[in-house]
Amino acid sequence: MTQRCNSYYTATLNQDTDYPTLQGRHRVDVVIIGGGFTGVATAVELAEKGLKVAIVESHKIGWGATGRNGGQVLSAQREFC
Ligand SMILES: Cc1cc2nc3c(=O)[nH]c(=O)nc-3n(C[C@H](O)[C@H](O)[C@H](O)COP(=O)(O)OP(=O)(O)OC[C@H]3O[C@@H](n4cnc5c(N)ncnc54)[C@H](O)[C@@H]3O)c2cc1C
Repeated sequence: MTQRCNSYYTATLNQDTDYPTLQGRHRVDVVIIGGGFTGVATAVELAEKGLKVAIVESHKIGWGATGRNGGQVLSAQREFC
């Protein structure tokens, strides 16, 4: 099983998750490859609209850049000419 990377997020997890390996055939409306911010946010949006969604993640949810980033949110106003 894939281990989580050594990060702040791993160190402060409230609850670890361990989902089963994909096996067999499944019927869903949308398959999302990758359980980072992008995939999980898309899955939530679609599920809230009533679609049956599957996320296929090769490691663990949040294993990629999502689980390693600095958490900085910057705002900026730009003027385009
Ligand atoms: C060190 C670092 C610091 C950062 N700091 C900031 C910051 O401070 N502020 C900010 O806004 N952004 C930051 N970012 C950027 C931000 O983290 C990323 O833009 C964002 O997490 C991308 O999310 P994602 O879901 O698109 O990709 P990811 O989180 O990378 O998710 C992609 C997932 O897809 C999975 N995957 C890939 N290929 C397959 C496959 N074939 N089958 C199954 N699964 C697959 C991967 O395992 C991974 O879990 C940082 C990034 C890094 C690396």
